Amino acid sequence: MHYPEPISKLIDSFMKLPGIGPKTAVRLAFFVLDMKEEHVLEFGKALVNAKRQLTNCSVCHNITDKDPCFICDDSSRDRSVICIVQDAKDVNAMEKMKEYRGLYHVLHGAISPVDGIGPEDIKVPELLKRLQDETVQELILATDPNIEGEATAMYIARLVKPTGIKITRIAHGLPVGGDLEYADEVTLSRALEGRREL
Ligand SMILES: [Zn+2]
Repeated sequence: MHYPEPISKLIDSFMKLPGIGPKTAVRLAFFVLDMKEEHVLEFGKALVNAKRQLTNCSVCHNITDKDPCFICDDSSRDRSVICIVQDAKDVNAMEKMKEYRGLYHVLHGAISPVDGIGPEDIKVPELLKRLQDETVQELILATDPNIEGEATAMYIARLVKPTGIKITRIAHGLPVGGDLEYADEVTLSRALEGRREL
């Protein structure tokens, strides 16, 4: 199919998104053409602003529009516990549960030797630096329940163990091979409650 250039460019842009194949990209592109101009402008602005105005929190590496993020900045949070997650969407899943009152550390990935991703490629060195001030008493390893997530949790546990900080891993019962961000609130809350010490 040959489309005028502006629409084929739009189709190409949609195809760069995860989970969007050619058919869906075409459908979305034509949907945009039918949208009111003001809504299209708003959509475009939201895309650009999300990219330009968001940054990583210099403390926990969660995405934020101010640094430190609202969680690190909240003096009512328990600073003695850090929950370690793979990405910013996992923070959102934990926060939705409204039970956890500690801080976070976002790794931005997991250790995966087959993909050439080592501890230095994710925010492990930054975590070790955070642990140097001695307020932290517990680390909750809430990486994904799959091979990379487990490997990452074990690596961090081994690394931190000598410091004497309590290290716990959230319980299973989370779907194996799944992503933390897709776990429902009840499952996640149970997993947190049933965390075991490593
Ligand atoms: Zn933060």
